[in-house]
Amino acid sequence: MTDKNELLAGASEVSVDSEYFSPIPVGYKKGKTKYVIVTGTVMSGLGKGIFSSCLAKLMQDKGLKVSPIKLEGYLNIDSGTLNPFRHGEVFVLDDGMECDMDLGTYERMLDQNLSKDNFATSGQIYRDVLEKERHGDYLGRDVQMIPHVTGEVKLRLRNLAIKTNADIVFVEIGGTVGDLENAFYIEAMRELAYEEGPNSCCFVALTYILEPKTLGEQKSKAAQLGIKQLMQCGVQPDIIACRAANPVGEKSRQKISVYSNVPLNRVISLHDSTSVYQIPAMLRECGMDFEVLRHLHIEDRINLRSERGEWAKWCDFTDKIGKEKQTVTIGITGKYTSLRDSYASIINALEHSGIALGCDVKINWFDTTDVTDKNAGDILKDVDGIIVPGGFGVRGTEGKIACVKYARTNNMPFLGICLGFQMAVIEFARNVCGLKDANSTEINDKTPYPVIDILPEQKKVNAMGGNMRLGGQDVEIKPDTIAYKMFKSKSVRMRFRHRYEVCPDYIEQIEKAGLIFSGKAPSQPIMQILELQGHPYFIATQAHPCLTSRPMRPQQMFLGLVEAAMKK
Ligand code: GLN
Repeated sequence: MTDKNELLAGASEVSVDSEYFSPIPVGYKKGKTKYVIVTGTVMSGLGKGIFSSCLAKLMQDKGLKVSPIKLEGYLNIDSGTLNPFRHGEVFVLDDGMECDMDLGTYERMLDQNLSKDNFATSGQIYRDVLEKERHGDYLGRDVQMIPHVTGEVKLRLRNLAIKTNADIVFVEIGGTVGDLENAFYIEAMRELAYEEGPNSCCFVALTYILEPKTLGEQKSKAAQLGIKQLMQCGVQPDIIACRAANPVGEKSRQKISVYSNVPLNRVISLHDSTSVYQIPAMLRECGMDFEVLRHLHIEDRINLRSERGEWAKWCDFTDKIGKEKQTVTIGITGKYTSLRDSYASIINALEHSGIALGCDVKINWFDTTDVTDKNAGDILKDVDGIIVPGGFGVRGTEGKIACVKYARTNNMPFLGICLGFQMAVIEFARNVCGLKDANSTEINDKTPYPVIDILPEQKKVNAMGGNMRLGGQDVEIKPDTIAYKMFKSKSVRMRFRHRYEVCPDYIEQIEKAGLIFSGKAPSQPIMQILELQGHPYFIATQAHPCLTSRPMRPQQMFLGLVEAAMKK
């Protein structure tokens, strides 16, 4: 079938002359897939992704097939060019998509690998519309926000539904209702609900209840106004989840209920909790899962036996939270601002390992701009282990190298991630191999010993955006190494995002001096894991192992670090 036919296929209502311009993809079965649509009001940062992933998890436990999608308002094609200190970490999917950190939340909560189909930005939507326009796909019509741009959004969701055979697609709309850049997403969802018919879509409005210290009571007006704004867009919420610091009282819930036509039992309190992994239980307690199922008319699709098993496993995991018997402190070299979001996956990976090992992992952040060989010991005296995470550019790199040296020479457990791996190679080259002023050409392109150099395939890349060595790659593990003992396998898959690598010319010299490259790319001389034997724990990887750590399957390199820190 040609593109043009595909655009128009499957729906008799679609024609050039009618206003029903809604591209239904071939093979789409109306009614098979239902949609839960999550929007936010009052402020951003409510945790829409956390909420949506927890609800999706409850549905997955019941044997339903779920597929999330994040719709971002910004015009960037992906998150790769965004500064993590402004927008949170760049999460990398196995297929190489650089996306919003919320996709990490979904992958962890659902223990499921996602793909580029689960992430859309306004930039992607407009790009696709403009490409179709140039291709002549709009059959002489003027191309408009409605129906063409909104049509493109619906097309994405329906394609995702077909591809994943989902019972429920969870749609998370970025930003807050009222943002100009997200308005067309909300309009598209209103159209979707209209086209799919009653009980096909469940709109969840997340909002925030203020509790000003000076008043000492909860205030729901901002929430009411936010919901009103959503209703002005033609969307009637079916469920309202009230975020707040403390449990939301009946009075506030009643006010919101009356104001929004949402029955009181569907206006729920979603107050702060110590761990995101406790939120599924919170949603379950207030019966949220069954409210959604009833609304979508799919109670008959669930498998309660599957749910019992899955829920028991989950509770075994969450029961361990807060009952840790030991505390360790891990130092992370990172800039001070908005650390939680910029290093979300590392924090999560440490939490997973801590829970598994019965250990409360505290984090000590420190900037390395002023760290030197002389003061490193002082700065690191209170930590039980250290992580040098990924990064770009020159700032703080000499301090990071000093930290690596301190860890190597003082039996301090160390995990290097991506840039941290490169720092470990440089430190070893300088201080053990005697290659004075060895460096990465990213940091100093005139170094006499470029032990870290640009990947050959990256030499011809000029533009920015989506062109690093990205995504899941297999790592071949050398037998009889610490890595092999840890992974218990000859091959592991990890996720990458880098332009530089260990320069192959120096591999032999470095290995001769005692550093072991225990993981490499199967068909190229790209070094991917390094380790030192005879040290309590000194390991680093060119990959980002934090991206594949899952609550009940903590990533091995993080487990190893926490374990070593506990022994210290
Ligand atoms: N800047 C380094 C590189 O491009 C490391 C990248 C990273 O830490 N993600 O290779």
